[in-house]
Amino acid sequence: MEGLPQDREEALEADREDPLASYRSLFHHDEGAPIYLDGNSLGRQPRGTAGALGAVLDQWRRDLVGGWDYWMDLPTVVGDRIGQLLGAGPGQVAVSDSTTVNLYKLAAAALDARPGRGVILGDGHDFPTVRYVLQGLAARSGRRLELLGTDPVEGPRLADITPRLGEDVALVCLSAVNYRSGAVLDMEAVTEAAHRAGALALFDLSHAAGVLPVGLDRSGADLAVGCGYKYLNGGPGAPAWLYVRAEAQPQLRSPIWGWFGQEDQFAMGPAYQPAEGIRRFLAGTPDVAGIMALDAGISPLLAAGLPALWAKTRRLVGLLARRSEELLAPLGARVVSPADPTRRGGHLAISHPRAWSAAYLLVQRGLVVPDFRPPDVLRLAPVAAYTSFTEAWDALDRIASVLADPAVHQDVPRKRVT
Ligand SMILES: *Cc1c(COP(=O)(O)O)cnc(C)c1O
Repeated sequence: MEGLPQDREEALEADREDPLASYRSLFHHDEGAPIYLDGNSLGRQPRGTAGALGAVLDQWRRDLVGGWDYWMDLPTVVGDRIGQLLGAGPGQVAVSDSTTVNLYKLAAAALDARPGRGVILGDGHDFPTVRYVLQGLAARSGRRLELLGTDPVEGPRLADITPRLGEDVALVCLSAVNYRSGAVLDMEAVTEAAHRAGALALFDLSHAAGVLPVGLDRSGADLAVGCGYKYLNGGPGAPAWLYVRAEAQPQLRSPIWGWFGQEDQFAMGPAYQPAEGIRRFLAGTPDVAGIMALDAGISPLLAAGLPALWAKTRRLVGLLARRSEELLAPLGARVVSPADPTRRGGHLAISHPRAWSAAYLLVQRGLVVPDFRPPDVLRLAPVAAYTSFTEAWDALDRIASVLADPAVHQDVPRKRVT
């Protein structure tokens, strides 16, 4: 990692020298808007999205049902492009459904492939939908869900996981980057340990895809899923993606026997026969407009390349971390992300007893859009493709000014969505 800016002048200089500076203009920014540090909840809108959606409208108007000749392949065509961001070779990624539904499909497929093994291993600090889906699958299949109770900041380490991997474990399902603390999991080591025990390994990459080079093929992971609307900039409710390692595909079946996963879909035959390859994990008709918008969302990332994006992200997060220690710690805040920069993903978590009031005031005063996670965590997510070093610098000054303001001790209404 290159040196971090020491003052605002150096932050401006870092922006002038930033090889990714021009990518910022590929996204919409409103003049005078607050500094946006919530790209891990909803990525900014790429300038290319309107054109991509306009193209779908044109195709629909012009070609009507004939559009399906080329829309049919969108889930795997765009899936392969997402695969390039994930270090996954072609034929292993498909765009479909939501992350939650994809998790369900892949976890259920894995459990069916490991009959007689009664345990699912998950993380008690994982994103709620992961825990809930695993709870539901455990209940339906008569299995036991065991949740790791590891340190919420540092996340699960190999040493915590290995002792839990007995012959009864069917599936290990963890997040590559923790949604709160940003702790990075060693997917490769965890997969190797899971495989040694005869279990399958499934990872949720919602906070990793498009941020760091996850090297899915190299990691040996059997299965993965991730979100389209966070770092992939697909827009609110964008379809999600799923990954199934080529070698694992023939042994796994989706629990949803839908016609889009059928071998000869338009034969309309009497019995379900899963398609060869990744298509067997599709269920029903794909969201064409959503996939086109997602494709526009990943285009800037593919052009920039993951190594350059990750190099900048690490500097941005490093800057936020250093300035949080300097400016926010004296105001009662604590960094609750791993201190080791090699174990952090793309966001920084800060806890403060008045975190909700601070988040509320930051937005209300038009200063910064952070993200709040109960009970007391602010997540700050700079995005390499569009966040500048100067923004990261200024955001910390603004957060410090709000935490130092007596108004932060007044109660403010809690919003429904945080
Ligand atoms: C955001 C997120 C999801 C979201 O799931 P949806 O089905 O899109 O609502 C799932 N898993 C993780 C780890 C997330 O961070």
